[in-house]
Amino acid sequence: MSSDYDLVVIGSGPAGQKAAIQAAKLGRRVAVCERRELGGVSVNRGTIPSKTLREAIVYLTGWSQRATYGQSYRVKEEITIDDLRLRARAVIDREIDVIRDQLRRNGVQIIRGSARFLDSHTIVVSDGEERHVSADTFVLATGTRPAHPADVDFDDTTILDSDGLLHLDRIPRSVVVVGAGVIGIEYASMFAALGAKVVVVEKRTRLLDFCDGQITEGLQYHLREIGVVFRLGEAVTTVERHADGAVTHLASGKQIASEFVLYAAGRHGETDDLELERAGLEADERGRIAVDSDYRTAVAHIFAAGDVVGWPALAATSMEQGRVASAHALGEPASICELLPIGIYTIPEISYVGRTEEELTDAAVPYEVGIARYRELARGQILGDTHGLLKLLVSSEDNTILGVHVLGTNATELVHIGQTMMALGGTIDCVIDLVFNYPTLAEAYKVAALDARNRLYAVEHVASAPWRPRIHPQGATLRPKTDGAAEETHVMTSRYVHRTSPRGEA
Ligand SMILES: Cc1cc2nc3c(=O)[nH]c(=O)nc-3n(C[C@H](O)[C@H](O)[C@H](O)COP(=O)(O)OP(=O)(O)OC[C@H]3O[C@@H](n4cnc5c(N)ncnc54)[C@H](O)[C@@H]3O)c2cc1C
Repeated sequence: MSSDYDLVVIGSGPAGQKAAIQAAKLGRRVAVCERRELGGVSVNRGTIPSKTLREAIVYLTGWSQRATYGQSYRVKEEITIDDLRLRARAVIDREIDVIRDQLRRNGVQIIRGSARFLDSHTIVVSDGEERHVSADTFVLATGTRPAHPADVDFDDTTILDSDGLLHLDRIPRSVVVVGAGVIGIEYASMFAALGAKVVVVEKRTRLLDFCDGQITEGLQYHLREIGVVFRLGEAVTTVERHADGAVTHLASGKQIASEFVLYAAGRHGETDDLELERAGLEADERGRIAVDSDYRTAVAHIFAAGDVVGWPALAATSMEQGRVASAHALGEPASICELLPIGIYTIPEISYVGRTEEELTDAAVPYEVGIARYRELARGQILGDTHGLLKLLVSSEDNTILGVHVLGTNATELVHIGQTMMALGGTIDCVIDLVFNYPTLAEAYKVAALDARNRLYAVEHVASAPWRPRIHPQGATLRPKTDGAAEETHVMTSRYVHRTSPRGEA
């Protein structure tokens, strides 16, 4: 007997939507099963609400204009929670509408209800009543939910996760954020921009330790400037709830009072209700489903994509994973470029693609650094963004770009120029030859490329100079190498030596 569908997707977040659309474009019979609002966490509780709140905060607080008009500059003196909510609700509603329309236009059936497996080819969908749906293939795109440590008593009023935060009835004057991951640090920066006292508590000793250290140092500096206090390398033992707020106790004995506590302590895969074992599958202890490079699970006709498969757990990547998983499920070739951009919408925002200085150093890959500071760019001055920077990591061997790291206005947009160049195997030489619109932030690429080339030239210049005895400032004489190049060039005091510091700190 033939199945009801060629492909059934469970979950309508970014991964599920793109999986379904891909199947429809291939002319297959496809359905998406969704138990909550269309759009998943991304549209309803994650990406879209948080980024809209950020946009409203940056605008209403006048944050981006303060360098020009002074620290007391505000667009609106009294910002209320309704000012922020209103904008978020409008964007969410429109996004849901766009998704519903897109699914319908492509002939994707929307099945309302919670899905669980009956066997590896059949799901039961419950929405008041139960319905059996069969398919030849499945894409599981059920996403994640906030992880709740067992000993934390979440009440959605004083002790909250990132979902509960969206139901706040007021803008807090003080907040403790537990967990300095992406979500924690994004919200910490938003509350600080709103003028709240923010304390971030994090067990690890470094903020966002997967990012380039110079960029996170810059971010941390700016967050401190707007009043964020960091308690890094510290653990929370208990949080006491009181009538007027909470007291957070740290293992070091410190106590922190705040109006509420935001727990952003990771996320858990939404697999508990799927009854995966009936399909011959299992999830790990964090609810995640293992997949191979085609997004195929241990059961050949069941695929999984998006946050439920783990890192990097971003909407952008989830979409592509969904598309690729769907194509493979239906026997079509598809792939994702490995150069994944990471965007973190803190205030100021950061973004990168490729490798960090730490990774290159650990892997003993020789590289040089080129930096452009926004304050050196006319557009940076016009925008009043004097703290931003763009950093290129460049192969010392062939001038290709190995990493792009940006801190500041439009970082999450700018990074794509570098991503495209990297994907095409571009070198800084080709960046230097390009003409960029003026005045733009994109010009930072040219400035950083020139900076990197100067540093590379400096090494070449010193290394290729004919040897003649030089006296070291402390009295040591440099010796010639067999090929005539000078050894110990690092002790020379020319301006080039200053510009070839391995971390680019000229
Ligand atoms: C606060 C926050 C901010 C974020 N900001 C960003 C950002 O700026 N940029 C970015 O790229 N990413 C961001 N993310 C991450 C992004 O939201 C996720 O990567 C993305 O939503 C994952 O998409 P997904 O399709 O895997 O799952 P989800 O979006 O989680 O969707 C899964 C869907 O599956 C449904 N579902 C689950 N189980 C069942 C079932 N049994 N039956 C039927 N339906 C089911 C759920 O109801 C849900 O609608 C953020 C996340 C959070 C929480």
